[in-house]
Parts: sequence; C-alpha cells; structure tokens
Amino acid sequence: MNDINSYKGELSFWFMVDKDVSAGEKVAKKVVKKVAKKKEDKGPQLIDLPGVGPGAVAKLEAAGIYELMGLAVLTPTGLSDMAGMSEAVARKAIQAARKMMDMGFIDGLAHEEKRKELFHITTGSKNVDNLLGGKGIQTKSITEAFGAFGSGKTQLALSLAVGVQLPIESGGANGKAVYIDTEGTFRPERVRQFAEGIGANADKVLKNILVARAFNSDHQMLLLDRVADLIKDGEPIRLMIIDSLTAHFRAEFSGRGMLADRQQRLNRYLHNLMKVAEQNNLAVYVTNQVMSDPAQMFGDPTKAIGGNIVGHACTYRMYLRRGKKDSRVCKLIDSPDLPDNETVFMIETDGLRDLDV
Ligand code: ADP
Ligand code: MG
Repeated sequence: MNDINSYKGELSFWFMVDKDVSAGEKVAKKVVKKVAKKKEDKGPQLIDLPGVGPGAVAKLEAAGIYELMGLAVLTPTGLSDMAGMSEAVARKAIQAARKMMDMGFIDGLAHEEKRKELFHITTGSKNVDNLLGGKGIQTKSITEAFGAFGSGKTQLALSLAVGVQLPIESGGANGKAVYIDTEGTFRPERVRQFAEGIGANADKVLKNILVARAFNSDHQMLLLDRVADLIKDGEPIRLMIIDSLTAHFRAEFSGRGMLADRQQRLNRYLHNLMKVAEQNNLAVYVTNQVMSDPAQMFGDPTKAIGGNIVGHACTYRMYLRRGKKDSRVCKLIDSPDLPDNETVFMIETDGLRDLDV
C-alpha cells in the first residue's frame, strides 16, 4: 500500500494511544485547568455534577465523553465502570445531568426549530441529493450505502468529502471531513480529480480531509474517540466517513458461534457513532458490503451485512448497484421520512454526473 505514504503526515496523530496511568493523571490536571476556564463561558460542565470530580472527568474524557449529553445518555452501570464510581453516585450524576439539560419532551414546533440547525451535504449528484430529500445527506444522522464491490460506495464517499467543504449556499457545510479507511481504498488522486471538477484548489481540499487507516475493529472503534478529541480541539468536522463499516467486524467474527458477539459489538459501535453525530451536529456516511441471500428467489439476491442491527441504526440506507451502460442505480430503502425511490448516476473522472431518470 504505497499510496498510504502520501497521507502519512495526517496519520501520525491518530496512533497515540494513551496507555500509562501517569499520563492519565497529567491529563487529569490539564483537564481541571481547562474545565475551570471553560466554566466562565459555557453552560454546566461535567465537573459541576454531584459526585463527579476531576479524576472522573479525566476518565470520562479519555472515553470520549466531554459534555453533559454524553453522560446523560449512559446507564448507571456504564458510567460506574467508565468513571470508577459507585452505581449510586453514577445514578445521581446521570439524573443531575438530565435535569440540567432539561431532557425530555419538546413540542413539535420546537422540534422543527431544532431540526433547522441541521446541515446538508451534497453528494455531487443532484439525482442522489433529491433521492435523499433534496440536499444530500444530513447531519445528526447516519447514511449507509451498501452494495457489491465496485458499485460506487467509495466514490460517493470521496465526493461527499469534497462536498462537505463547500459553503452552505453551494450545498456544503463549510466543514472538514474525517475518513476512516478500513480497506485501504482512500485515493488522494481521486479527491484531486473531484476537487478540480468543481474548480476547487485540490491541495486545500485534501488538507481538509483527515484520513486514518483502521487496522482492526478495535482500532476502528478507538478512532471514534479520536474524532471526538479533534472536534473538541476545535476542528470544524461536519462529516465522518467509515469505509467500510463492517469489513473488519465481518472478518474477525466469522465463525458461526461468533455472530452474536459481532452483532453486539457492531451495535455498540453504531450507538457511539450516532452519539458523536448528534452531539456534534455532524453527518456520518458508512459503507457496507452485501452477501448473497439464498432465501431470496426473485430480484437482486443480496443483503447488507450486519442485518437489522445496521438497518435500524442508520437513518438513511441506499442500495447501490451497476445499471445499464456503466451507470449506477441508487435506491433508497426504509427511510423514516422519504418515499422509497431510485435514481441513476454516472461515475466520471471529474465527479459524479446525473442521468435522466
Ligand atoms: P465500491 O462500491 O467497491 O467502494 P467504488 O466506489 O470504488 O466501489 O467504485 C469503483 C468504480 O468507480 C470503478 O469500477 C469505476 O467504474 C469507477 N471509477 C473509479 N475511478 C474512476 C475514474 N477515475 N473515472 C471513472 N470511473 C471511475
Ligand atoms: Mg470501496
């Protein structure tokens, strides 16, 4: 994988995993300082919760939890394990966090207001954008593309990584992209072509895509925490791509007896993805492979890996396949608010192109 060298500079940051305890303590001290500073300008912080001291804050931050929302959605057992406190203390802290955040019901109008904060990101194809409701994929949700090898999942990912950088009025979110590459298929030269296709400065565009190669499923899960760190450090990330979501899980848990284990881990990962997406108002695009489904006798005999677990966690699912004359057919499946529909596009050197449907 020689072309990995071309983005090695971006990678170095990612592999610093904090293992020793003394480093943890140093972090704790820094955190206290930071938290004290933060308190003046922001609302309630983790440190303001009953029973949550600087040590617990450091542990929570190490686990990728920086805000009340992250803590409020935990279970008492989960928090107790994570922060090393008793379950009773954990329960109180969670209740306090929920109270401070005023979690619970909001009316439909307020809900509509909240949804206006969402950003949309163009896929580069008007047809696909329209299929997804008009403006492409959206923040605070997970969009999945599944399909066979060569169906266009990665091309769509690369196009989105360029699209997210556009100004809002041009269909982007004025932000950066994180690309978690599990298969080694990220191609900087393809990004360059897409960028040039819309007349953008290719160097700048590449600089705004933070790429990390995930070597196994544990590493893939760990990288999610690093993304939370980057956002906390002020990186304006609006899109996270996981290409592929399932490949490592599938390879590592391939035995019959391992299916339940795999699904459980995948479920936890998806849950964490959704949390990061919601807390930070970012869009998540994941790719997924297909396997043949012997039970299906008619039509396309393929099924997405991960089954219902992935299906339920993703807000939007697209099924990609090759169509006539090298076109790609993109079908929306089981959307909560959009009709099931399909459209056609082409993959060209300088970007995705629409075809009349
Ligand atoms: P996957 O679904 O496996 O991720 P990809 O998104 O990588 O598949 O799609 C690969 C396909 O994209 C190729 O088979 C080819 O048709 C098309 N493609 C890749 N690069 C180019 C290019 N430079 N110009 C035109 N088409 C391309
Ligand atoms: Mg691919």
